Amino acid sequence: MDGTDANSGLVVLVGAGPGDATLVTAAAIKWLTAADTILYDRLAPAALVTITRPDAEKICVGKVPGEPSLPQEQINALLIEKCSAGRLVVRLKGGDPFVFGRGGEEAAALTKAGIPFRIVPGVTAGVAAAAFAGIPLTDRRAASTVVFVTGQEAADKAHSSIDWASLARIETLVFYMGVAKLEQIAEKLIAVGRTPQTPTAVVQNASTPTQRTVVAALCDIAERARAAEIKPPAVIIVGAVVDMRRQLAWFEKLPLFGRTVLVTRPQTRASQLADPLLLLGANVIEAPAIRIDPPEDFRAVDAAVRALRQFDWIVFTSPNGVEALLGRIEALELDARALGGAKIAAVGPATAEALRDKFLRADLIPDQFTTEALGQILTETTQIRGKNVLLARADVARPQLTQALRSAGAKVTNLAVYRTVRPDALCAEAVEALRTGKVNWITFTSSSTVENLLAILDDDVDISPVKLAAIGPVTADAIRRCGLTPTAVAEPHTIGALVAAIVAQEQQ
Ligand code: SAH
Repeated sequence: MDGTDANSGLVVLVGAGPGDATLVTAAAIKWLTAADTILYDRLAPAALVTITRPDAEKICVGKVPGEPSLPQEQINALLIEKCSAGRLVVRLKGGDPFVFGRGGEEAAALTKAGIPFRIVPGVTAGVAAAAFAGIPLTDRRAASTVVFVTGQEAADKAHSSIDWASLARIETLVFYMGVAKLEQIAEKLIAVGRTPQTPTAVVQNASTPTQRTVVAALCDIAERARAAEIKPPAVIIVGAVVDMRRQLAWFEKLPLFGRTVLVTRPQTRASQLADPLLLLGANVIEAPAIRIDPPEDFRAVDAAVRALRQFDWIVFTSPNGVEALLGRIEALELDARALGGAKIAAVGPATAEALRDKFLRADLIPDQFTTEALGQILTETTQIRGKNVLLARADVARPQLTQALRSAGAKVTNLAVYRTVRPDALCAEAVEALRTGKVNWITFTSSSTVENLLAILDDDVDISPVKLAAIGPVTADAIRRCGLTPTAVAEPHTIGALVAAIVAQEQQ
């Protein structure tokens, strides 16, 4: 696994970065996806644990301040045991393994046991906090030196191993694990000669949508952080560079920073909406209110797939339809030629893109991305009379499209290529966020997401104060039918426009 011997075990100490799952190295992803066993700290981003192999063994070893965790000796013993059994073991550690991460102790234990290991560095919290708070740790005009300090060693301890006097002369100081000791740290620094007015920042949950930054003079910072209820994990940055944040703060100024948005799309499609929201700074909770399942019985689909050549038009009203139908062609060991010479219609750009992923180009996309517009363009601009039309759709699809095509003289086959299933419940994180009033927006990309969400939410969860965003008029109507009011409706009816509509509302 280390490139020399595929059968022998190996331990890789991997830095997981500060919290934002996109702040990991390509090497970290490579080892994580290959690992047989992953031992991870609770602070490691949850999204990283999900990219591991489904059959990989995942062991959480804790390491949250104030919570129980495996003693270090047991972690070391586990690493040695798993690796000796020939496994590729990833030890996933928050930030960088060698910055206040006990990576040195783990590596030493491995060396002693004769276990081969590698180390993948990570973005350490201090560096991430500086970047995401807009505070350059060094700057030619203000700081030529920076020091990382542990705050856990009580500043009032008689035999602290920290040389406090030397810290008075270092321009930028970054304290880890210091929130609980903030007052002592500030007092000690002032006692050794740091001016009480030195700008100081405390950055909590750096790099994540829940980041919070408090800035004050060194002499006031403890009180201000306490008033703001700053909690670990947080880093403290002390020095003139902190002032630069006034011009350089960027993350907390993103248009959706501090807003929590629920994405109710099926999990397989969630990232298309979640990713742009995250880039705009939103705290995104994926709360699928719908699941896409295969049909219970493939007989009808398979018969249609084998007879695809007889259709003049194949009509897709969602990317799910494209994937389901084309997936079935593959499952039956056929290939793209099964489609014959049929023309292809797509309801909108996302569906057209799903087709292009399969090397197919839509012949027809309406200007308005609704099934009504699709029906209209098919009946008005093509010679549809007498033509065989296949609608590859969900099991529950509205009848309007079929009716419009039939009244124009087309022979329509409605094929349920997938089922939309209502989950039993919404994920716990979403329910909790709704209950505590933390959710600012719920996004709906279809009527079923609206109906399902309201059906699976407990009656005592009140979503009336939450702003609701709909992808188009049909979804907006579904919201109204439930007695609620859509705050934003996408125009055109695309994911991009849905995100833009939310941003526009927030900036009003
Ligand atoms: N090896 C880690 C540090 C582990 S010690 C690294 O390189 O980042 C734990 C301390 O890291 C916390 O007490 C806090 O000071 C800091 N920390 C970790 N994640 C953080 C985050 N997202 N924001 C702010 N501080 C963080």
